[in-house]
Amino acid sequence: MQDFFGPGGVLERRLEDYEYRPSQVRMAEAVHRALEEQSHVIIEAGTGTGKTLAYLLPALLHGRRILVSTGTKTLQDQIFYKDIPLLERVMDRPIQAAYLKGRNNYLCRLKLETLHAEGLFGSRELRNFQSILDWAQQTETGDRAELGSAGEDSELWARMDARRDRCLGTKCKDYNRCFLTLMRQKAMEADIVVVNHHLFFADLAIRKSDAAAILPDYSAVIFDEAHDLEDVATEYFGFHVSNYRLAEFIHDARKLEADVDVVSRAAERFFNGFALLREGRHPIRRLDGIDSLIGALQEARHSINQKKDFSGEYETLARRAGELESELDIFRSGDLENYVSWIERRDRGIFLEACPIDVSGMLAERLFTRVPACVLTSATLTVGDSFRYVRARVGFNEGRELSLATEFNVRKQALLYI
Ligand code: SF4
Repeated sequence: MQDFFGPGGVLERRLEDYEYRPSQVRMAEAVHRALEEQSHVIIEAGTGTGKTLAYLLPALLHGRRILVSTGTKTLQDQIFYKDIPLLERVMDRPIQAAYLKGRNNYLCRLKLETLHAEGLFGSRELRNFQSILDWAQQTETGDRAELGSAGEDSELWARMDARRDRCLGTKCKDYNRCFLTLMRQKAMEADIVVVNHHLFFADLAIRKSDAAAILPDYSAVIFDEAHDLEDVATEYFGFHVSNYRLAEFIHDARKLEADVDVVSRAAERFFNGFALLREGRHPIRRLDGIDSLIGALQEARHSINQKKDFSGEYETLARRAGELESELDIFRSGDLENYVSWIERRDRGIFLEACPIDVSGMLAERLFTRVPACVLTSATLTVGDSFRYVRARVGFNEGRELSLATEFNVRKQALLYI
């Protein structure tokens, strides 16, 4: 690491404005060690350390696929479009890197075709749909960010994005040319895959149990902006059931001519019970009609499972019925230890929500014991000069720690405006 970051090293020789920073070398060495030993490390590195290069270089030298996960899209962009190309120039060699976003950023070809065949649009929607259709012919990524104003029509986009709920997976006729499949293939060829915490945890929550996972296997993960980990993990290990989700399920089932009239009636009775609920969050007191709703979903699932399923559509539908059933069952049983639960009205939506209070056990089990090397870094991780609090909150029980002060002379170089 000294040869690269140190005085007279590669960076100093190749970059005009490079400044040697001892803390950057220490961080790079700590990351390198964790990756080589396949262990975990948590590093607080103050502003100006040059964190990204300090973990990207060891990641590259490691030679096996590594995920770099960020809290924000801004940092994800910076790493992919600025730091990795810089490293390529300095090292004078190409780097195999891939950039993955959450599923709902990509176009689902199958939904696009279905919408095209149905052709039910208002006049403004029709214009946007036509632009999306034209774009779909030539895009190589299917990434919504490439679309201009047509991509800003969130309601229209939500009808054709590649989210997991309605995805048919390997049974889809468009699977081989699906944008998610292509992205996954790119990621499988890459040494460094840049993702964000939302995508990482969405994938972790379903990993091993579902073909809908889009991240390839990885030997290590580096979390930058790791101060966000707890919040994002809490969001993804929680769940909710809403009248919208039921309505979507019923709508999709009817399109496939599955008989869900009983579910529809039971859902209507159940959610009508909250007709007078005021806007906002409330404790869950009574769930009248939940037994009938669960029973109706069970029946519907059995009858859907009887259908001959060549396209995979019934399988997806049955899976959705099963998920609704089991999540409603948790609310019914009140078996929500370690969860905080509530009922919420947002406009016309009624949401039963459950969020874990403490994700440390889940992260210890699903992340830190399964992934051989994890690096957590951020400018702000310690409380009172100690990592104890963050370690406890995210279940980081075993692993080294390193705290590096900022390289800036804050008294001389900072101004505070109030
Ligand atoms: S595999 Fe899933 S996301 Fe891809 S086109 Fe098919 S249904 Fe859509």
